[in-house]
Amino acid sequence: MRNACSLLLILFILATTTSGTTYSIITSNEKIFNFFSGLLSGDVNYTIPSSPVFHRMFHLSAYNLRITNSSSSNPVAIILPGTKEQLLASITCCKNAPCEFIIRSGGHSFEGLSYSAWNHQLFVLIDLMNLNRVLVDMESKTAWVEAGATLGEIYYEVSRASSHFGFPAGLYPTIGSGGHIGRGGWGLMSRKYGLASDNVVDAILVDSNGRLWLSTKRISPSG
Ligand SMILES: Cc1cc2nc3c(=O)[nH]c(=O)nc-3n(C[C@H](O)[C@H](O)[C@H](O)COP(=O)(O)OP(=O)(O)OC[C@H]3O[C@@H](n4cnc5c(N)ncnc54)[C@H](O)[C@@H]3O)c2cc1C
Repeated sequence: MRNACSLLLILFILATTTSGTTYSIITSNEKIFNFFSGLLSGDVNYTIPSSPVFHRMFHLSAYNLRITNSSSSNPVAIILPGTKEQLLASITCCKNAPCEFIIRSGGHSFEGLSYSAWNHQLFVLIDLMNLNRVLVDMESKTAWVEAGATLGEIYYEVSRASSHFGFPAGLYPTIGSGGHIGRGGWGLMSRKYGLASDNVVDAILVDSNGRLWLSTKRISPSG
């Protein structure tokens, strides 16, 4: 029989969902041009509705098909940052775009909060699926987890590092750590170890103005 799991502390990269200025229609072609050229100069992957992969990307992790099947909920673009720098560039570009932006980690929002906009506003989707690295450090009994990593990816990396440690979070392996930990996160180990968010010991935050926030006492300089 396996030993009871001990607590593995988690560190977390989080982007805020707060949107920039909201416009009901796109009014300026120049703004759109600046938006996409800003993305290209930052070397950030993105896809737009005319691309053959766009709809697959959009539906890939969206949990509630009632929402995604309504055509009015399609984003004007999906951005896929793969590094912290690309995430900052994406948010800075979105800030100047003439529409809202929304963050998606695992897409498990029943309400469609990560893949539809309030009142059918135009929106750009920043999908964190490529920000999914998990670095476990057994010496400090912590892990750095990027917000696009799923719970399954965290559990897998923790179990590869040790058969004695675990992380207290939800049951579904496809849930994203970004949306889950940001809202608490309850699972089978929570009665003993608390919520997933109780076990976050450090974080790198990106605010809606594209600024990076580091804690003064960093756990690991490599994060
Ligand atoms: C099948 C299923 C099983 C579930 N099981 C459990 C369970 O066992 N325990 C439990 O506690 N909950 C459970 N939940 C609820 C789940 O934890 C929440 O819906 C959670 O918010 C999903 O996170 P996500 O990243 O997958 O979702 P998303 O839809 O990507 O995000 C949800 C919300 O968080 C925001 N967000 C996402 N990433 C970030 C980020 N990096 N920074 C800031 N905001 C962000 C989104 O914009 C959206 O508003 C379950 C949900 C489903 C659908």
